Order: sequence, then structure tokens, then C-alpha cells
Amino acid sequence: MGTAGARFMVARQVAASGGLFLEENGTRISLDPGPGAIVQYAQRGVDLTTLDAIVLSHRHLDHSGDVNVMLEAMTDGGFQHRGQLFCPADALDQDPVVLKYVRRFPREIIRLAPETSYAVNGLPFTTSARHVHQSETYGFRFGEKLGWITDSGYYDGIAEQHKAEVMVIHTVLRECIPTLPHLCIADAERIVRDAKPRLAFLTHYGTTVWRANPSKIAADLSQRTGIDVRAASDGLSLEL
Ligand SMILES: [Zn+2]
Repeated sequence: MGTAGARFMVARQVAASGGLFLEENGTRISLDPGPGAIVQYAQRGVDLTTLDAIVLSHRHLDHSGDVNVMLEAMTDGGFQHRGQLFCPADALDQDPVVLKYVRRFPREIIRLAPETSYAVNGLPFTTSARHVHQSETYGFRFGEKLGWITDSGYYDGIAEQHKAEVMVIHTVLRECIPTLPHLCIADAERIVRDAKPRLAFLTHYGTTVWRANPSKIAADLSQRTGIDVRAASDGLSLEL
């Protein structure tokens, strides 16, 4: 539902910022519905009243901007008490991004903990250790199939904790900036070398990555690592 990461890409909607959508055996999950997510889902004909869960990796706006309207849509305007919201506690407790009046709409709200297993219907997933980021943030593994590395500074164990057949890596920075807790291209390369996925996708591009051409960056990474690395594009859909 979009590949834009961080403030400037999102503010100008250079790329869409609606996060990811997962569907397996009739279970549907919206991950990180950032600004415009509701528009992206509508444009692609996804009936949000059939959504089973919304998962926030963290409370930053590019990951949570549309969470309230998505909760309302999932519950058919609040009239159907259904679906789940998974998010870090700080998305709810201090300076919350989930409005209080919307919280009674979903069937359940779950505060995420590090390295813990959850399930939506029959679809299991686990959280990583707490990411190196300004707010409470977790990455995710959906079994052996999908590892999703959302915003984080690089840390030891990040590759192992998200290791899966297909890995999605939020690559915000072109060059590493020690004071910014985000992954750069060199970090993505380290992760890919360590985890050796069948396929890796770069996404959540910051301005410097966007200007350097994500497809070219991915092709360079593939050549250097021998692993299939690709650049995600808005609307990309993949069968796992
Ligand atoms: Zn963030």
C-alpha cells in the first residue's frame, strides 16, 4: 500500500505511505497504515469490513497516521464489534495515536511485548526484540515465510530475529548516520548477507534512497551479495 518512509517522502506523497497488507486463507491484516492508507485500500478494492487485524510496529505518523479511520472502517463505522489492534503500549498510553473514542470499536486491543508469539485467527506471528528507535518499536516474523524489519537502527541479532524466506527491509537512509536510528543501505547489505533470504525487498524509502534510485540500489546489492534483492514499488503484490 506504499513505499514512502520518513517525513519528507510522506509529506509530499512522493510515494504512497499505506504500509503492507497481508492475506492468508481468508485472514487479512493491515500493517502500519500510514497517511493515505484508507485511500490506497479503497483504490485497490479491499473491503475493510473483512479486515481481521491492524498491526502497528510503532507510533510514528508514517506508520500510524490512518489507524483511527482504519479501525472505524474495519468495524463498519463502529457498528460491528470485531477485529483486533496490535500495537506498542506507547501508541495508547502517552500522547496516544489511537483515539480513545475509537478504542471501543475493535473486539480486542493487544499491547505488544518483545519476542512474543501472537495469532490472528490461525495466522501466527512473533515480535522481534525491541528495535533501536525513538519510540517503542517491534519487527515481525510471520512463520518461516515473511520477516518484516520495520524502522530501527542496526543492532546485533536483527538479521536472525527477522530471518525468513522473504524479508522486507525498511531502508530509510542511503548513507548511515550514527545519530539517526534508521537502517542504511550498508545495514541492509549486512542483514541480507547474515539472514540469506530467498528474496529481500527494500521499501520505506527516505529521500536520499529515493533520489539514488531504489531499483539500482537493489540491483547493486544483488550483485554484491548473490541474493535476490529487489526494490518494492507502490502497489506491488507478491505470492509467498
Ligand atoms: Zn519510525
